[in-house]
Amino acid sequence: MSSRRFFAPCVAPETVLRGDEFSHARTVLRLREGDEIVLFDGTGREYDAIVRSVGKTELVCGVVGERVADKECRVPVRLLVGALKGDKTELVVQKATELGAASVGVFSSRYCSAYMNENKLQRLEKVAREAARQCLRASVPAVEYYPDLAAALASCAEYDNKLFACEFAQRSDADLHALRSSCALVVGSEGGFAPEEFEAAKAAGFAGISLGKRILRAETAAIAFLAVTLFSLGELE
Ligand code: SAM
Repeated sequence: MSSRRFFAPCVAPETVLRGDEFSHARTVLRLREGDEIVLFDGTGREYDAIVRSVGKTELVCGVVGERVADKECRVPVRLLVGALKGDKTELVVQKATELGAASVGVFSSRYCSAYMNENKLQRLEKVAREAARQCLRASVPAVEYYPDLAAALASCAEYDNKLFACEFAQRSDADLHALRSSCALVVGSEGGFAPEEFEAAKAAGFAGISLGKRILRAETAAIAFLAVTLFSLGELE
C-alpha cells in the first residue's frame, strides 16, 4: 500500500488530486474507481480514502477514515547543511526525511559554491514530500533556505543540543552517546567552514563535533551525523 499514498495539503471529505499526485495515480498506478488509497497532509495525519472518479486532469476521492500517523521521532532533530553542488542537496534532503529529521535547513556560507533559488527550494520540498510518501511518514519536514550561516544558526535557538560538525575540530565538545533531547546539527558544504565561522557557531552555543580522523564528503557527513544522533536518541531501534 506504500505506493498508494498521496500528499494532499488540504484533506476534505471529498478531496481532489491534481498535478504530480494525479499523474502518479493515473499514469503510474492506473488507479480506478473503487480503489483504496491513503492521503497524508504533511502535518502528521493520514486518511483512508476511496477513489470516486478518475478524469483527464484530476482524481476525486472520498475520505472514509482518519488517524494520527505513528512514524515520527519522539525527539525532534533538525539538520542544517551548506548548499551542495549538483543534486547532492536533494540526496541529503531525501535521506534526512527517511531517517526522520523534523526539519532541514540549507544555508550559504563563506566557502559554499552552490547557489539556491526559488526553483531549487521548491524542488527540495518536492523531494521531501516524495521521500515522506515512500517511507510512510505523514509529516513532511519543512525545508528552509538561509542566505548566511548566522541566520541558519539563529534558527536553532529552541533546540537543547546544538552540534556543529567541523572538519578541523580536534575533539567533540559534546557526548553524542548522552543525547536525550532535541538536537540541531550543522554540516558544512564541500568547501567546509572558515575558522571564524566555527568561532561564531561556538559563540552561538554550538558544540564542535569531530566525526573522526577522516574528512567525509559533505553529504556523507550530513547523513552519518544525523543517523548517529538518531541512533543515540533511540530513534532507529
Ligand atoms: N573542504 C574541507 C577540507 O578540505 O578540509 C572539507 C569539508 S567537508 C567535505 C564538508 C563538511 O563535512 C565539513 O564542513 C564538516 O561539517 C563535515 N565533515 C567532514 N568530515 C568531518 C570530520 N571528520 N569531522 C567533523 N566534520 C566533518
